Amino acid sequence: MDYLISDTDDKFSKKKVKVLITVKTYPLPSKTYQETVCTAGVKEDGTWIRLYPVSFRYLPYSQQYKKYQWIELEVVKHEKDPRNESYKPYGEIKILGQIGTQNNWEERKRYVLKHIQPSLELLKEKSKGGVSLGVIKPKEILDFTVEPVSGEWKDKWQALFKQLKLFGEQQKPLEKIPYKFSYRFTCCGENCAGHKIMIEDWEIYALYRNMLKTYGSKDKAIEKVTEQYLHRFPKEKDLYFFMGTTRKDHHRGTFVIIGVFWPKKEI
Ligand SMILES: [Zn+2]
Repeated sequence: MDYLISDTDDKFSKKKVKVLITVKTYPLPSKTYQETVCTAGVKEDGTWIRLYPVSFRYLPYSQQYKKYQWIELEVVKHEKDPRNESYKPYGEIKILGQIGTQNNWEERKRYVLKHIQPSLELLKEKSKGGVSLGVIKPKEILDFTVEPVSGEWKDKWQALFKQLKLFGEQQKPLEKIPYKFSYRFTCCGENCAGHKIMIEDWEIYALYRNMLKTYGSKDKAIEKVTEQYLHRFPKEKDLYFFMGTTRKDHHRGTFVIIGVFWPKKEI
C-alpha cells in the first residue's frame, strides 16, 4: 500500500532541514563509519535534532561546519535508532551564516534556550518516550573532576585503524585523550540528589590539547582546564548544559553533557 503514503507523511522519507549546530562531541572510532562525531543542533523552532553519523574530519573542508553555524541539508529518520531526534545526513551540507556572540549571545539564546527542561530528572523520564536531547540549567556546580583513562584506543579499534591504513583510508589516527572530565552539580529538580556526569564536548578536549601544546605538561594542561571549568565558568558565566544520551545507553536514560552553553552572567 506504499502508494497511499505521500512523501510528507512518511516518517522515513527524506526531508530538508535547517539546523543551528550547537553540539560537536569528540570523535569516536566506529566500525561502520571509521570515526564519528555526534553533532546536534536546534531547528528554527528550537527543537533538537541529532545528525548521525558524520565522519566529520573526512568531510570536504567546504562542508566542515562550525558551532553556531546554520546548515541546510537533507536528512532521513534513523529507523534503528530508538532516539527520536536522530537523523541521518544525506548528500551535501550547505553552510549558511554563523551566529555571533553580540549582546551577550542574544541571538544564540533565542534559539537554544527556547525549550529548557525543568530538570534532569524530568528529562530522564521523557527519555522513556524516546527524547534523547535537551537543555538543562545546573543550579549549582559542586565540583569538576579529571580522571585518567587509557591513552590508547581499545584493541579492536587499533586493529581497525591498521586495517584501514592498509587500504589507505585512514589519513591520521585519531588522538585518544587520556582523561575524562566530569561535572558534579545539582539541577533545578525538586528532589535533585545531585549528579556526576561526563563532559563529551569537543571543546573541552580541544582546550586540553591546546594547553598541552602551550605548556608542554599534562599537569599544567589539566590545571588550566580545571581553572576554566571549575572556577571561571561557574563564577562568570550563566551556564546551561546540552544533554544527550548515547545510542547504547539510551534505554537506561543515561545522559552525558554533550555541550556547555556559556553566555556571561547578567547582573
Ligand atoms: Zn537533578
